[in-house]
Amino acid sequence: MDKMIYLDNAATTKTSPQAVEAMLPYFTERYGNASSIYQLGAESRQAVTKARDIIAESLQVNPAEIYFTAGGSEADNWALIAAAECYKDKGKHIITSTIEHHAILHTCQYLEKKGYEVTYIDVDENGIVKMEDLRKAIRQDTILISVMFANNEIGTIQPIAEIGRTAREKGILFHTDAVQAYGHVPIDVEALAIDMLSASGHKVNGPKGVGFLYIRKGVKIRSFIHGGAQERRRRAGTENVPGIVGFGEAARLAFGQMKERMEKASRLRDYLIERIEKEIPYCRLNGDRINRLPNNVNFSFRFIEGESLLIMLDMKGICASSGSACTSGSLDPSHVLLAIGLPHEIAHGSLRLTLSEENTMEEMDYVVDAIKEVVDRLRQMSPLYEDFVKKEQKQ
Ligand SMILES: *Cc1c(COP(=O)(O)O)cnc(C)c1O
Repeated sequence: MDKMIYLDNAATTKTSPQAVEAMLPYFTERYGNASSIYQLGAESRQAVTKARDIIAESLQVNPAEIYFTAGGSEADNWALIAAAECYKDKGKHIITSTIEHHAILHTCQYLEKKGYEVTYIDVDENGIVKMEDLRKAIRQDTILISVMFANNEIGTIQPIAEIGRTAREKGILFHTDAVQAYGHVPIDVEALAIDMLSASGHKVNGPKGVGFLYIRKGVKIRSFIHGGAQERRRRAGTENVPGIVGFGEAARLAFGQMKERMEKASRLRDYLIERIEKEIPYCRLNGDRINRLPNNVNFSFRFIEGESLLIMLDMKGICASSGSACTSGSLDPSHVLLAIGLPHEIAHGSLRLTLSEENTMEEMDYVVDAIKEVVDRLRQMSPLYEDFVKKEQKQ
């Protein structure tokens, strides 16, 4: 097989051809500024309105509650920093989890430096937030709870309904980073009592550099990017019309085909998991088996280095990841894998495979065969494995 097999859709996805096609005219013929009075501007304005309507409908919310941003990170920063400031008279305590994306964790660290107090709730061995701990962490001065919808590394889907209900009962704002979930699994903002939600275009076959923050009507929040009056005075900056159009089209496709995409991805996912568990010894599936994104597979293989595994898989045309893209280049094991209790050496030997609707069963067979071969080869070179085998033989 000389073709590339892309299994890193949690890092980014291919922009769908339909999204690209929808975007193109807004670079060339319809380049008007969406704020301009004349017809050319109105065309851009209408295109933004249409995308906003599609996205609002996908969440069953009002279009006036959707604010376009330059991606998921900006939406996360905005939700946390602006809400923290707006509600500081009520208190300065924030609750989040230990397995959030760095866009949340590093923003929390920034807020700690600014005098806020943050409680990081632990997760269990499957990566599910400990609800009992979360409830106990709530105080009089807690103003915000931010827990991700689904984890980008291990795919665990959190008990969002329970967290939302808990927050609402206590009158605390609830934000969720839904970047990995939006367009991949159904999200009922109303039933889940979500006040703010972040999403990103490039994780759902839309373009990079565009995202949105849903802000429930009535939530006090100041603007984050200061300047013009765009996005109802809450997010300045000339609208990224092609990006927004592309995101809208990607969202339309994702929600239109969600059921089929989920069924197909979970079939491939379960096949991968089953074959790897059966055929490769000393491995461990990371993340919850049931409450899991349909496209996520994450394994740790003992006695090997994830980095070497990735390089050798790359030589076989397979694009995968050993943690989150943001941590590649650093030798620290992923904070998520440590949070679920993996020892450093096991966390280091981990592999994340994230699927798209383009993957096939044939590819899955090729991939498992490749992983088997590479893991075996790396173990043969590993002194740790040699020691382990000797010990086993003595017993
Ligand atoms: C990718 C990702 C982000 C960041 O989104 P960008 O659009 O790349 O800024 C935030 N949170 C999670 C869970 C992600 O997977």
